[in-house]
Amino acid sequence: MKRKSIRFAINELVILPLVCLGVLMLIVSVPVIYGAIVSETEEGLRNLSHVLLEKCNAAEEGDYSLENGVLCKGGVPLGEDQYIVDSVKEISGIDATVFWGDTRMLTTVRMENGERAVGTKASREVTDKVLGNGEDYFSSRALVNDAYYYGYYTPIENSDGTIVGMVFVGKSRERVVNTIFHVVLRVLIAAAAVMAAALFLSLRYAGRMVGSLSKIREFLGNVSQGRLECEIDGKLIARPDEIGEMARSAQMLQKSILKLVGTDPLTGLYNRRNCTEALERAMHKYRESGKKYLVVIGDIDNFKRLNDTYGHPAGDQVLRELSQIFQTSMQGKGVAARWGGEEFLFLYDEEEGALQALDDMMQRIRGLQICYREQKIKVTMTFGAAVCGEADTTESLIRRADDRLYDGKANGKDRIVCE
Ligand code: GH3
Ligand code: MG
Ligand code: MG
Repeated sequence: MKRKSIRFAINELVILPLVCLGVLMLIVSVPVIYGAIVSETEEGLRNLSHVLLEKCNAAEEGDYSLENGVLCKGGVPLGEDQYIVDSVKEISGIDATVFWGDTRMLTTVRMENGERAVGTKASREVTDKVLGNGEDYFSSRALVNDAYYYGYYTPIENSDGTIVGMVFVGKSRERVVNTIFHVVLRVLIAAAAVMAAALFLSLRYAGRMVGSLSKIREFLGNVSQGRLECEIDGKLIARPDEIGEMARSAQMLQKSILKLVGTDPLTGLYNRRNCTEALERAMHKYRESGKKYLVVIGDIDNFKRLNDTYGHPAGDQVLRELSQIFQTSMQGKGVAARWGGEEFLFLYDEEEGALQALDDMMQRIRGLQICYREQKIKVTMTFGAAVCGEADTTESLIRRADDRLYDGKANGKDRIVCE
């Protein structure tokens, strides 16, 4: 099966929508911003154009006329030294022009040589719309002196209603496009920053989640390969979410397996594997603390004969009932384990009182009456005991207990033999 990483899948899941969102924002925001700025520019230019017209109209009483090539109002030259248009430019930075017919009379627009474009003409389209129809006109591509402008034209009327000229205010296209570019750039930088933050947080969260899953996978891998002593990260166990549940289940699985592999199925006692570990721990503790412990090996007497007489299932019943006695007798004193067939190992944590406890257990065994299919069975056991010593290893201690058991068997059984 081709391996696919969850980390990769989650990253895809996070990155793809963010990139789509970014592209969508770009596609949607640019025309919206462009439209908004152009409409605001038109609005601003319209107001300014009307202000300029008002200014011209208020300059003098009377009509507009052209006298000796000079634009006049009420017979007086309009605006000294182009003051009317210059003041507009000065205040707003926007070019202004006053036309007589289609000819520029007062203007801030300059030609390449730096001189005012006085005497130059408006385009045909503009004259048709403004002079012909007597209407305001806004153009996003007004060609003024070979440069494109966002321009607004308002007709100039004399008192008899004849259109004699127009005023113009305009912002160079370059300036507007520049403004749009800067606004779009700022929006995009802000969007990119938000997306980067979202991406960072999502990837970090995904990374942590995948990291936790990897730890659980690693733990289960160890357990499945028989490394049952491995430990799962406590932080995972403490998590209140599904990953925490998964970790707790994995830990429970480990405990169940440990119990299964360490327990004898017939008697429920520790099996040899668990018992060996308990013996090693006891030896380790003894070496650290110097506190002695006792190891006993007990063997059921004449068990073969019991099996032959009552049958194997009866033998099993005996093993189970004896084990219950072992378990209750050993409670708080140490562990009882099934060491082999009908042999059991008892590990008393402390030497003190251990032999007395063992003797009590033997008495209970002697008193036990096992009922199997209306037959009453009685059993005895022989025990060999050995106290740990400084030169001992677990093996030597067991060997000594085993030797004592052998002595007990040889000397009549049903007894405890101690060193
Ligand atoms: P001794 O007093 O010298 O210990 O004699 P014994 O008969 O108890 O010892 P021996 O080793 O000759 O026989 C042990 C018997 O225990 C043989 C075997 O069938 C029986 N046995 C071992 N495990 C089980 C078990 O799980 N169930 C039953 N029913 N019998 C078992
Ligand atoms: Mg035996
Ligand atoms: Mg036996």
